[in-house]
Amino acid sequence: MKPQNSDQIDARIDAGAMLDQVRSWCEINTGTANVDGLAKQAEVLAEAFSALPGEVELIDPAPVTAIAADGSEFEKAHGQHLVLRVRPTANRRILLTGHMDTVFPADHHFQKLTWLEEGVLNGPGVADMKGGIAVMLHALKAFEETASAGSLGYDVLLNSDEETGSLASADLIAKMARGKLAALTYEPAALPDGTLAHARGGTGNYSITFTGKSAHAGRNPHEGRNAIVAAADLILKLKGLEREDITINPAKLEGGGPNNVVPDHAVLRFNIRPKSTEAMEGFDKDLNGLLNVIEREHEISTHRHGGVTRPPKPVDEKAQKLFDLVRECGAELGHDIKWQSTGGVCDGNNIAACGVPVVDTMGVRGGSIHSADEFLITDSLAERAALSARVIERLSQGALN
Ligand SMILES: [Zn+2]
Repeated sequence: MKPQNSDQIDARIDAGAMLDQVRSWCEINTGTANVDGLAKQAEVLAEAFSALPGEVELIDPAPVTAIAADGSEFEKAHGQHLVLRVRPTANRRILLTGHMDTVFPADHHFQKLTWLEEGVLNGPGVADMKGGIAVMLHALKAFEETASAGSLGYDVLLNSDEETGSLASADLIAKMARGKLAALTYEPAALPDGTLAHARGGTGNYSITFTGKSAHAGRNPHEGRNAIVAAADLILKLKGLEREDITINPAKLEGGGPNNVVPDHAVLRFNIRPKSTEAMEGFDKDLNGLLNVIEREHEISTHRHGGVTRPPKPVDEKAQKLFDLVRECGAELGHDIKWQSTGGVCDGNNIAACGVPVVDTMGVRGGSIHSADEFLITDSLAERAALSARVIERLSQGALN
C-alpha cells in the first residue's frame, strides 16, 4: 500500500542545498561550552528554519551547577535552545529534536571539513548532528508541500547541550514531549548502513563530596577523619552494587594533600549505566544507604550531587509500532531498515521517559562520531530526508492512531 503523494515528496528534496547547509553549519564551532559559537549557530539555524510555518523562538538554558575539585558548587554556562511550533492546535502533534552542540571545543584541533573520498565528508558535527538537522529541516519542508500537512502539528527543538547530558534542556524536552503522538530525533544511524538504535540503557553522573577532619599524621592521627579512606571505601562498596542490569564506573577521585596530614576533603566522581527503570530506582536507594553507612563508620559527612540524567529507554508496544512504520517507509524507498540495542544514550531516552514513542536515530548515515574521523555519507542526506518525510506524512494520515 503506497501512501498518496509520497513520490512527489522524494522529488522535492534538494540534496545540493542540504549539503551546502551542512557545510556552512559545520564551519561554526559549537562545542557545548562555546556559548558564542552556539549563539552564531542558533542565529543561522533560526534563519534556515524560518522556511517552515510557525515562529522560531530562542529559549534561555535552565541553570545547571557542577561541583569543583574543592567541593564548591558553581554554575555552568550554556547556549540558548531553538524552538519552533507549527500548528500547535492540531489534534495530531509530533516532536522533532536535534542538538546544535558538538563534543569539539573551540580549541580542539578538529575544526575543518575534508573530503575523504567522493561522497564521504569528514568534519566536526557532519554526522552528529548538523547533517541530522538538515535531514529534519528538509523532511519538514517536503512534508509541508503535501496535501495532509494541515492535519499534523509539530514542535521542533534544537538544544545546545545534548553532548553534556541535556541538563540545561531536560525540562524543556519533557515539556515539549508531553501530549505528542510520537517523536523523531536526528542522531546519526547506529551503523553506517542505516541501522537504527532500538532500546537504550540509561546513564547517571554523580559527585560525592567527603568532609572529614584533618590532623597531624604522626602526632595525633587518631583525631583525624580521613576523607580519602572514606571515599575509597565507597568506591569498593559501589562496585559491590553492580548487577547484570547496572554497571558503575568510579571515574575520578580528587582531594588529599601533604603526606603528613590526614586529609579532610575528597570528591569522588562516578557514572552509572542502569539497563532498566527498576535498576535505576534501586540504585538511588542503595546509594543513600551506602552514604549513611560511610558517614557512620568513618565519622565524616558527605554531600551528594547529580543523578540519572538519561533514564533507560525500553521499547514498548507503542514505540515498536513507530519502528515498524519507519521500516515500512524505508522498504518503499528500497532500504532494508534494521535496528539493534545500544549502550549509548541521547535525548531519545528523555523523550521515552515521558511515555512518548520515539525513534532517535533518524539522522544521516556516517560514523566515527566524537572523534576527528567523524564522517558523513553525503548521499544519505537526501535519502534520510525522504525517509523522514514519508514517516511524517504517514503520521499525519493517522498511522499510529
Ligand atoms: Zn548527537
